[in-house]
Amino acid sequence: MRKWVYLFFLIGLLYWGEAVGGSVASVRASASLNAISSHSEASSQGDWGAVALPQSAENDHLARTASATVALTFDDGPQPNFTPQILHVLQQYGVHATFFCIGSQVQAYPAIVRQTVQGGNVVGNHSWSHPNLTTLSSAAIRQQLSTTSAAISQATGSVPTLFRPPYGATNETVRSIAAQLGMVQILWTLDTRDWQRPGVAAIVNAALTSARNGSIIILHDGGGDRSQTVQALPQIISGLEQRGFTFTTV
Ligand code: ZN
Repeated sequence: MRKWVYLFFLIGLLYWGEAVGGSVASVRASASLNAISSHSEASSQGDWGAVALPQSAENDHLARTASATVALTFDDGPQPNFTPQILHVLQQYGVHATFFCIGSQVQAYPAIVRQTVQGGNVVGNHSWSHPNLTTLSSAAIRQQLSTTSAAISQATGSVPTLFRPPYGATNETVRSIAAQLGMVQILWTLDTRDWQRPGVAAIVNAALTSARNGSIIILHDGGGDRSQTVQALPQIISGLEQRGFTFTTV
C-alpha cells in the first residue's frame, strides 16, 4: 500500500519537474525523490502521496485550493536561545519539522536535542564542525559524520538516518560515506535565505511565494542571530496553511 503511495508521489514529482523545466527543477526533483524514496519511515503516512498534483505557473492556483505538503527544515542548531523558541512555535501550531544538527552543538546542548525529538520532530546529522566536506579526506569526512551521529545517539537514544552536508556541498565520496553510516543525504528545494537576515517580511515572502507541493524548505535555528527566523515562523506556518499546505517531516 505504502509503495503505491510513494509511486504516485514520484510520478507527481517527475511530472512537476517536466512542467517547471530546466536543470534546477530536475535537481530539485531528484533531491526530493532521494529524500522520500530512501527514507520512508519518517514521512507522515499518506501525506506525500495524496497530493501528487502537477505544479506550474499555469496551475499555481491549485496549490491554494488543493491539499499539498511541504517540509520545514532547520540547520546549524541546537542553539540555546533560538532552538527552544522555534520548538515552542512548532508546538503551538501542531507542526513537526526536521532539524539538521551540528555535532559540537549537540555535545554542548544535548537536552535541547532530546527536547526536539520528544516534541515529535526529526533530528539529522549536519557534520561535527560545519566544514565544506568536499575539501576533506575520506577519513576526515567519516570522522565529521560518525562523531555527530554518536553525539545525537547519546542525546536522543537513536542514531540519525538523515544527513545534510554543510552549504549543500557534496560529492559522491561524501554521499557514499554518509550511506555507509546508515544515512541518506537530504538537500533542500526552497532557500528562504534567512541566514542573510533580510528581514522578517522577506523570509516570509520567500517561503510563501515559492512553496510547491513537496518543497523542502531550509531555515536556520543556529549559526548566528536567528531572531528574524523565529519571528517569521508563525507567519510562514499560518500563511502556508491558508494556501492549503500541510506539513511533514523529511
Ligand atoms: Zn549549515
